[in-house]
Amino acid sequence: TTPSPAPASNKRDLRSPICCILGHVDTGKTKLLDKIRQTNVQGGEAGGITQQIGATYFPIDAIKQKTAVMADYEKQTFDVPGLLVIDTPGHESFTNLRSRGSSLCNIAILVIDIMHGLEQQTIESIRLLRDRKAPFVVALNKIDRLYDWQATPNNSFRSSFEKQPRAVQQEFQTRLDGIKVALAEQGLNSELYFQNKNMAKYVSIVPTSAVTGEGVPDLLWLLLELTQKRMSKQLMYLSHIEATILEVKVVEGFGTTIDVILSNGYLREGDRIVLCGMNGPIVTTIRALLTPQPLRELRLKSEYVHHKEVKAALGVKIAANDLEKAVSGSRLLVVGPDDDEEEMMDDVMDDLTGLLDSVDTS
Ligand code: GDP
Repeated sequence: TTPSPAPASNKRDLRSPICCILGHVDTGKTKLLDKIRQTNVQGGEAGGITQQIGATYFPIDAIKQKTAVMADYEKQTFDVPGLLVIDTPGHESFTNLRSRGSSLCNIAILVIDIMHGLEQQTIESIRLLRDRKAPFVVALNKIDRLYDWQATPNNSFRSSFEKQPRAVQQEFQTRLDGIKVALAEQGLNSELYFQNKNMAKYVSIVPTSAVTGEGVPDLLWLLLELTQKRMSKQLMYLSHIEATILEVKVVEGFGTTIDVILSNGYLREGDRIVLCGMNGPIVTTIRALLTPQPLRELRLKSEYVHHKEVKAALGVKIAANDLEKAVSGSRLLVVGPDDDEEEMMDDVMDDLTGLLDSVDTS
């Protein structure tokens, strides 16, 4: 079949967007991830949310349930199969995740504490995002800490905001205005996401509470909206793979393994792979593809489930020989029947310079 020139009309060919979270310490990155993961949708479970290697996967049905409260305000289309959120917050991981040639992380969430405004690592994060031309949204977190905030758990922001006493609404507005000015001082135009008429020029702000879950539906809605509408080209399924090494780890029974985010394509047991090593390129063969055992099955013997084949986007652990010197943040390539292995070895080693540079400067 010929590739479709119109990605939006070809829903089946889109893969899940990948999202990273960053911001100053204590702004609520971890808590926000936890809240997004929770399945406290009234009555029913938002099923199928799975813990992966270094990431959490949200199937589209779970997102549908979690964003249902948005129906009064926004239309939603669901063209992607799900959303993959990288679990490690913080900008060290993000530096790795946006290495040269890596297309990991389609969109980032920059978390700002509404009570504290911009802090040192917020500013560093903004620089990093800008340097790497990474699209992002701002989660203006801890709105429940505004004095006298009346919480409606897991509500959409606008619905909750309408219910607030005037004084709360005024305090919100004052703090929001202050933060918009501070962002402007960093060279960023910003706007509340539902008032943002120009998403390409203005960064969208989503007010959230990681404690009450308010604004979390808005955040998920916006992530889908931005990735589906503005990045569908990047989300097309590719036959060639795009994969990034998150971590190199020794695991009992498997030796040295690498944790990888597969952003596009497939990986198979027995694939010959090329990756960047501290002392030169590594060429090896995938012995095992592993994902964590679902929680309820933890009494089983192994901590991991083995796969013959995995499909993007997901986090997966790879066991293979000779991984001891693998460099996290670098790409992983699969040797196809017509590929020149030597050329690929040169390619992956190009990553090393970029990665060492970014370590030096951060
Ligand atoms: P991180 O360092 O950015 O990952 O921040 P954490 O998620 O660890 O949160 C730091 C502290 O802020 C913890 O005590 C959280 O319980 C608290 N916190 C996080 N989000 C919220 C929020 O939305 N509202 C309130 N009231 N507290 C929050």
